[in-house]
Amino acid sequence: MTTSEQLFEKAKTLIPGGVNSPVRAFRAVGGSPVFIKSAKGPFLYDEDGKRYIELINSWGPMVLGHAFEPVEEAVREAIQHSFSFGAPTRKEVEMAELIVSIVPSVEKVRMVNSGTEATMAAIRLARGFTGRDKIIKFEGCYHGHGDSFLIAAGSGALTMGTPDSPGVTKATALDTLTAPYNDLQAVETLIDNNPNQIAALILEPVVGNMGCVLPEPGFLEGLRDLCTRHGVLLIFDEVMTGFRLAKGGAQERFGVTPDLTTMGKIIGGGMPVGAYGGRADIMNFVSPAGPVYQAGTLSGNPIAMSAGLAMLRHLNEHPEVYTRLEETGSKLAAGFKNGLDKVGLPYTINQIGSMFTMFMTDQPVTDFASAKTCDLPLFGRYFQAMLKRGVYLAPSQFESLFISTALTDELIDEVISANEDALREAL
Ligand code: PMP
Repeated sequence: MTTSEQLFEKAKTLIPGGVNSPVRAFRAVGGSPVFIKSAKGPFLYDEDGKRYIELINSWGPMVLGHAFEPVEEAVREAIQHSFSFGAPTRKEVEMAELIVSIVPSVEKVRMVNSGTEATMAAIRLARGFTGRDKIIKFEGCYHGHGDSFLIAAGSGALTMGTPDSPGVTKATALDTLTAPYNDLQAVETLIDNNPNQIAALILEPVVGNMGCVLPEPGFLEGLRDLCTRHGVLLIFDEVMTGFRLAKGGAQERFGVTPDLTTMGKIIGGGMPVGAYGGRADIMNFVSPAGPVYQAGTLSGNPIAMSAGLAMLRHLNEHPEVYTRLEETGSKLAAGFKNGLDKVGLPYTINQIGSMFTMFMTDQPVTDFASAKTCDLPLFGRYFQAMLKRGVYLAPSQFESLFISTALTDELIDEVISANEDALREAL
């Protein structure tokens, strides 16, 4: 037994499923999860001392690689002044100022502790601001584990939601309507069928959570237009895409302006941080400026703000980071495509900048239905073959990879070569 396997056995007796977040348990790919001891730059090291090339980067936050020195330094400095005050600090003002200057649509912002908190607060705010109850989300998009978001599409795109998880009440589910991603017509029909009842439409402007799925040309613009015409607030969930697809996120990259934006991951430099922000007239509805309540004992925590500030300042001052992420993403995608061709597999690769998924299907993947055509057992074998070769991928077909600037050209070549070998082994 490896040390990871021993730890997992013990963990399962103490923690539900042995993990503190489900996907870490490797259920979708089989085998036992690797327990990580440390990480530096482009590498993870497990409890048995094995090295892995990182293609997940803590599900996004470590865009500059692990233990990035300016972030470490900022945290070291901050911990000398205690860990939490529950009172306002200069750093929160600096953080808000920086976010407002970077993210095009954000005029005011509130810090929270996770992406889940950000999305939950954003829809409460949208409901409070519009006086409407219902929201629209897309099948296959993930917005954290708030009750309103754990809703599947039911039997058809236009049906009422049914809960995905026991514990989510039917009443909650009825207020969440779902549509297939990239289907403007379905959204329009939902809005028409629920006149003056939709508070907000929330989406990942580029999806990471059914694997990487891109918005088709005109989709985001079309949603913007529909929302404006019907008084529906448009919420971009940029927890994954923010500060990654461009400095100002997907909204900068695609030139579409949401009313509210939710953020997380990179914004905390690896610490537990989220944020939501947007139009000042809407944000002024948040307590204590306005009537919509939202609070947090550790919100704006000084250590987390220090890590996030160091991260965002670096990104703000180094535009070459984004050039590098584009290059790396394109190089990896081209290398994987070449590997597929050599092995004779017609599979689909979706990539944009440093987000990337190789789908084990010959169909274009544009929504959840097409993502579900993948060969999942094959993906499981491929994942294990990559892990054996020291490449750490997301342990599910329905996830995006997140590349960091720490990945050198030599390491990209190593990953590309491992990919071809792993594909052959998995077949
Ligand atoms: N929104 C999106 C788009 C996400 O990808 C995630 C997490 N992967 C969340 C929200 C929830 O964030 P957290 O896990 O920090 O609660």
